[in-house]
Amino acid sequence: MTLQDELIDWFDAEARDLPWRSRPEPWPVLVSELMLQQTPVSRVLPVFEAWMRRWPTPAALAAEPAGEAVRAWGRLGYPRRALRLHAAAVAVVERHGGEVPSARADLLALPGVGDYTASAVASFAFGDRQPVLDTNVRRVLARLVTGVAFPPPSVTAAERRLADSLMPPEGAHRWAAATMELGAVVCTARSPRCDACPVSQHCRWRAAGYPEHAGPPRRGQAWAGTDRQVRVKLMAVLREADGPVPRSALESVWDDAPQRERCLDSLVADGLVEPVTDELFSLPA
Ligand code: SF4
Repeated sequence: MTLQDELIDWFDAEARDLPWRSRPEPWPVLVSELMLQQTPVSRVLPVFEAWMRRWPTPAALAAEPAGEAVRAWGRLGYPRRALRLHAAAVAVVERHGGEVPSARADLLALPGVGDYTASAVASFAFGDRQPVLDTNVRRVLARLVTGVAFPPPSVTAAERRLADSLMPPEGAHRWAAATMELGAVVCTARSPRCDACPVSQHCRWRAAGYPEHAGPPRRGQAWAGTDRQVRVKLMAVLREADGPVPRSALESVWDDAPQRERCLDSLVADGLVEPVTDELFSLPA
């Protein structure tokens, strides 16, 4: 059996039962892909389920104010994704009659849809033969085939060529999903479980004795005291209110006034918060 066959067989037997897999239609796949950027599956699941119950089609979401999308985004983080998803739903209704398009160029033209997301939707929802290079897939290919601990900081032409060359002629979308799953549950960044790996006999990194990462230092994600933390706190106040909130309510969640004002200004600039007056703020209409 080939590497591809072995990994796909493992995926068919062991993959987690995730709702966007059991229902791989274009809209749920697009929603899940935007939510899963930078947020783990366990946090995405409840928000995704509620989102799809409320907005089962792009038209349902497009008919509501963008602020409702931001509110429903909850604590997934990076809430500009909610605005982009709302804008994508509006574009799908206006340009494609409410159906998520299948052509890669049309997908790429939607707000919030970049190279990775267009490939993922084309592959998982439409079964296209597309290389899908997310963080998990890149790490798996780096270890399994290139023989290094981690891929470069951003996607390179060599990685694209490698991903292209590994796609099986049939079932490329299942290969993509299988490599992604392996990276998510077995070949994790910090503690790969090689004894449970279905393709360990093919792994060049393992065969080489797990050489240390020799590339540029990997970025950690600082949190406490960062502007990101302040933005999250400010957004929580706005999401949980029924209507506009006074500046005093925002002041109560962060003491450092210059940092708080800078973060509030950045939320306004991003379109996530609307000043109703100098002293009142709300989610976008
Ligand atoms: Fe990852 Fe270990 Fe499998 Fe290699 S053998 S692909 S390092 S889990």
